[in-house]
Amino acid sequence: MRLVVVGNGMAGSRLVSEVRARDKDTKVTVFGAEAWQPYNRVLLSNVVAGTSSPDQVRLLDPRWYAEHNVTARLGVEVTAIDRDSRTVVAADGTREPYDVLVLATGSEPIVPPIPGVERATAFRTLDDCERIRRAAESARSAVVVGGGLLGVEAARGLAGRGVSVTLLHLAGHLMERQLDEEAGLILGETLGALGVAIRTGVTVSAIGERHVELAGGEPVEADMVVLACGVRPVVGLARDAGLEVERGIVVDDELRTDDPSIFAIGECAQHAGRVYGLVAPGWEQASVVADLVTGTDKGARYRGSRLVTRLKAKSVELAAMGETQLTDDEAEIVRFSHRHKGTYRKLVIRDDRLVGAILLGETSAVGTLTQLFDRGGPLPGDRTGLLFPDLAGAAAVADSPVRMPDSARVCQCNNVTKGQIRACWESGARNVEAVAAATRATTGCGSCRDAVEGIVGWLCEQEGVSA
Ligand SMILES: Cc1cc2nc3c(=O)[nH]c(=O)nc-3n(C[C@H](O)[C@H](O)[C@H](O)COP(=O)(O)OP(=O)(O)OC[C@H]3O[C@@H](n4cnc5c(N)ncnc54)[C@H](O)[C@@H]3O)c2cc1C
Repeated sequence: MRLVVVGNGMAGSRLVSEVRARDKDTKVTVFGAEAWQPYNRVLLSNVVAGTSSPDQVRLLDPRWYAEHNVTARLGVEVTAIDRDSRTVVAADGTREPYDVLVLATGSEPIVPPIPGVERATAFRTLDDCERIRRAAESARSAVVVGGGLLGVEAARGLAGRGVSVTLLHLAGHLMERQLDEEAGLILGETLGALGVAIRTGVTVSAIGERHVELAGGEPVEADMVVLACGVRPVVGLARDAGLEVERGIVVDDELRTDDPSIFAIGECAQHAGRVYGLVAPGWEQASVVADLVTGTDKGARYRGSRLVTRLKAKSVELAAMGETQLTDDEAEIVRFSHRHKGTYRKLVIRDDRLVGAILLGETSAVGTLTQLFDRGGPLPGDRTGLLFPDLAGAAAVADSPVRMPDSARVCQCNNVTKGQIRACWESGARNVEAVAAATRATTGCGSCRDAVEGIVGWLCEQEGVSA
């Protein structure tokens, strides 16, 4: 069987390693338009902030391909799919035949059509980070355009490097897809205290040599400009090949396109009407496709994902999940706002189930809320206790490793449960590194590291073993 993968990003590289873990014989070729070895895009904010080097965000050891008999065509873009001859055509003129083709082409940044936009740098790739890092070395002022997750992380990272940053956002409040207005406002104030000036409800009309111009003509000083204006799925190859494409490449529960020999995974895929913008769905999809194409589990299916967004910006704690924007007329809302302290907590409940939550400034309840959100089970009557797990008598369901049920998902990115961590411990793993090597927990965004450490420590304590 000849498997060809187009795209060597987070989903494509995971698929290749999952296939090899199941099957040594499949002939695997992966094309990656970027010249880099696959890397953890989720951690690029750390590269911009200067807390991680490019080497530290690598996903696979460079020797991995040779050692696992996988052909990696790095820096080679695929330009066409010939479905009649089942061949992909690469930019260097080579052709690669396939029995199964997987498209994992990801997303590309949206670049607004404004004069001078070529002076700005997008924020998607390791090359972009290198450009941002170099520019930040000599810049005194920076503008980040776009106040979504990426824009906030980029702005915080640049401010941490000592650059004077202004974050410009079109919508009325920051991260409007994940946060309600009040949370967006408090996030803005928190960032303000960390040296990021926030301007919401503004439109950029032009980018000049040393400034950005707002609609209406007001200039904002900017030695450098970073664009974080959203992404769109990369679907050109699929569309040109006549595959069904809406916003993303349309796939079914097997991640198959309307051509049964072609699959799509990651941010380029559209499943049940949804295109995801986080890594966990792509990694779950990679595992399903690996099961199907190697025949390991012919019944494997992808049924959609429930997402938890966590900000990775130093000194800004933020987690958001589900339908956070519903009003009191549409759902039961429990909210606690302490603007002066920069904290905001909100539960959105429908039919006694948690359908959304925001934790800003203080996220100790995130484990409990994530489990309740994931499982969709009925909530305890004491709603306030859910928001304040540390209060005496509070109904903390699970943040402590002791109370957490085995089914609790600890690592959101890699879908690893407490039960899997326990099993791993029982087979001899005694620290986070060993658990990560066996289960991949902590290797996505890394925000579950403390939880994994807590579980390992607790298990060791139970058995009187030193961690
Ligand atoms: C700064 C930043 C922070 C993020 N933070 C988080 C986070 O906290 N949590 C989270 O879950 N997600 C986060 N994300 C999103 C996460 O990185 C993506 O969901 C994930 O990378 C998607 O994986 P993918 O493989 O679908 O796409 P990508 O990782 O983008 O990989 C696609 C690859 O395909 C290549 N390609 C495209 N077309 C071709 C072609 N024709 N031929 C060959 N190669 C091609 C591209 O060059 C690219 O390398 C973040 C993203 C960024 C940029």
